[in-house]
Amino acid sequence: MASQFPKTIDTLVIGAGQAGVAMSAHLTREGVPHIVLERARIAERWRSERWDSLVANGPAWHDRFPAMEFEGMDPDIFVPKEQVADYFETFAARNKAPVHCGVTVTSAARSLDGGFTVETSHGTVLAKNLVSATGPFQKPLIPTAVPETPGLMQIHSNAYRNPGQLPKGAVLVVGAGSSGAQIADELVRAGKRVFLSVGPHDRPPRAYRGHDFVWWLGKLGKWDMKAPTPGTEHVTISVSGAYGGATVDFRNLAARGITLLGRTGAYQDGVLQVAGDLALNIRNGDANYLSVLQEADAYAAAQALDLPLEPDAHKIGPMPDCVENPLKTLDLKAEGITAIVWATGFSMDYGWLKLGKFDEKGRPEHTDGVSPEKGLYFVGLPWLSCRGSAFIWGSWRDAERLAGVIAGQ
Ligand SMILES: Cc1cc2nc3c(=O)[nH]c(=O)nc-3n(C[C@H](O)[C@H](O)[C@H](O)COP(=O)(O)OP(=O)(O)OC[C@H]3O[C@@H](n4cnc5c(N)ncnc54)[C@H](O)[C@@H]3O)c2cc1C
Repeated sequence: MASQFPKTIDTLVIGAGQAGVAMSAHLTREGVPHIVLERARIAERWRSERWDSLVANGPAWHDRFPAMEFEGMDPDIFVPKEQVADYFETFAARNKAPVHCGVTVTSAARSLDGGFTVETSHGTVLAKNLVSATGPFQKPLIPTAVPETPGLMQIHSNAYRNPGQLPKGAVLVVGAGSSGAQIADELVRAGKRVFLSVGPHDRPPRAYRGHDFVWWLGKLGKWDMKAPTPGTEHVTISVSGAYGGATVDFRNLAARGITLLGRTGAYQDGVLQVAGDLALNIRNGDANYLSVLQEADAYAAAQALDLPLEPDAHKIGPMPDCVENPLKTLDLKAEGITAIVWATGFSMDYGWLKLGKFDEKGRPEHTDGVSPEKGLYFVGLPWLSCRGSAFIWGSWRDAERLAGVIAGQ
């Protein structure tokens, strides 16, 4: 049962993930009256839309709000997802965030007075400002239509929980970003026969010369990058904090029995076409990995940092056989594949927002989170103001700035 909440408010925040919780903290600090409406629970996606063994991709000292540490934890560990969710709940409680859970926003439109009329599952709310914090990863995206087939389970990574959920038999994991690479790794450890479809990706070293890559990206100014390098927007980043954290290494996955394949294409009569891009994707991933090492070395030299050398990190092994002689098609039945895990990302879903402009991918128009529609703001989206924007501390920083904008009006 949702708690009572005001039906007229200065600022209405929609969504109580990390971005909504951060927004609330900054609005409180700025003295802006507001409420946060959340359709489920605080940090719901960390609770119920991620797999059981997931840990944060960055260490505890990094993947957090600057205002609160993960108490009682080694700052270098990768925090399990339930504790990440607990962290946001604790933070919201300590800040007495006016979060009302169990309230779904069904539509938001411009009112005659220039503010917003917001319809919710618990009545209408009138607000002067609207902040959408509904998340960067809203609707599971599955690029290839494989029809429902008896004996073939298909799930998106947001519904994957653990290996025990899958039927007996081999599994195809499509997508080798952080989710796909981590899920494939978990499945092969569980004794499954695994096929992994690898698209273009970046794969920074987990750590180099004594520092985690998130530290290096900070030093190299990469988190503050304003826009993706042209043409590279869709390159997913493949990193993992699982099992204590290690560089995602596709050669290692292949050596442990995973069959790598190129991007999966069209499906017909039980057979998936496979693009001939596997070796190129692996090579480009290697180039990205090596470029981080080189930039780190250049930075260390320029700053005269006394860090241990790590020559072995520069050695790249030979291509595995499955890359040298790649599959051109994948016959699901012949390979005994009984499950497909689509780790193929998400799209946006702003069906509830009845104003503003959206591009062909459904991404809203804004500048650093400020919509051209007066009083409308977005927080928590990828590249909202910089590369760090969709990450925990990045949404904090954007929320801080946007709260200042709202208070200033
Ligand atoms: C598998 C995975 C692992 C990740 N790991 C990390 C990591 O380790 N470190 C890191 O920094 N980032 C990580 N991210 C990226 C990012 O931090 C998360 O996606 C995070 O959940 C985004 O937070 P958010 O608050 O912006 O959105 P969300 O967590 O998606 O929160 C949005 C909230 O809005 C609510 N909502 C949506 N629509 C409505 C509506 N109409 N009415 C009411 N409520 C609504 C939802 O229920 C949800 O609770 C990860 C992402 C994924 C997918």
